[in-house]
Amino acid sequence: MKIYCPKCEWKPQPDDHWWCSKCSHQWHTFDTQGQCPNCKFIWKDTQCLSCHQWSRHHDWYHDLPPVEELLEEAEVARPNPA
Ligand SMILES: [Zn+2]
Ligand SMILES: [Zn+2]
Repeated sequence: MKIYCPKCEWKPQPDDHWWCSKCSHQWHTFDTQGQCPNCKFIWKDTQCLSCHQWSRHHDWYHDLPPVEELLEEAEVARPNPA
């Protein structure tokens, strides 16, 4: 699983922690796919601990291509009519 910041490509380390501003719990957000294990709030956006920019949690997972990319690959794989 390739996980890194879509803005600066910083990779989260196993001992990094994120802070839930709803309940003050600290946990590793990529262990739970963005869900706070204490208050169960799902954080759709995740802040990078390196560049401090917010990105959608899904965008950190680079092994999960969005649907649009899958369609583009199908387009490329089509045989050339010429
Ligand atoms: Zn929480
Ligand atoms: Zn970053």
